[in-house]
Amino acid sequence: MSSNKPYRVGRSRTGLGLFATKPIKKGAKIVRYFGPLLDSRKKKDDAIENKYLFELNGRWTIDGSVRKNIARYINHACKPNAESDVKPRKRKVIIRAIKNIEPGEEINYDYGTDYFKAYLKPIGCKCGACEKKRKKKRAEARAEKLRLKAKAEKRALKKAEKQAAKAKEKAEQNVEQKRRLNGKANGVKANGRHLNGHGGKSPAGKMIAAESEISIKPAATQDLENSVSA
Ligand SMILES: [Zn+2]
Repeated sequence: MSSNKPYRVGRSRTGLGLFATKPIKKGAKIVRYFGPLLDSRKKKDDAIENKYLFELNGRWTIDGSVRKNIARYINHACKPNAESDVKPRKRKVIIRAIKNIEPGEEINYDYGTDYFKAYLKPIGCKCGACEKKRKKKRAEARAEKLRLKAKAEKRALKKAEKQAAKAKEKAEQNVEQKRRLNGKANGVKANGRHLNGHGGKSPAGKMIAAESEISIKPAATQDLENSVSA
């Protein structure tokens, strides 16, 4: 490859690609898409199948798979910096810049819907624009997940606080009851042991266990409590 060409073949995201080595002005011809012409009316030509076929019109197709066709290294992009300028009458295709291209930039053109559907859609287009889109989607999904997690945690915390408050209230009620029953129900004590066996896991249980040796209400107090809270 002679060095006055404004491009070189290099490693790209998807394998090899064509990269600018000099500034290329918008509208400038970059390289010709080159290869033998295939005539669809000839059985032999029509049977040829590869990824580098460039259809000029119903009849003529360029077989770009030949080594000399440097343009075959140019990858597809959905938002490209070049285009394929097709001149069916001349049976020629020129790759032309549609933006100013800086040295180091990969040169891309849009391969068109047929190619996209056949080859790129099934595996997912890896062009810059599509990668960016995917990245954005992933970031959004991550953010959404975090948001939902935070929401769930907040909800759990609220629930725990509510339960703790309830437990506290109950414990206080029990203290009150015990105080009232103190004279009568002297023999009823007990139940720290029983309570601990139940409690442990929920914050509410913990709260009760922490606050009292008292708490469990004997069956005898049930009616009283009902009438109090009613
Ligand atoms: Zn794309």
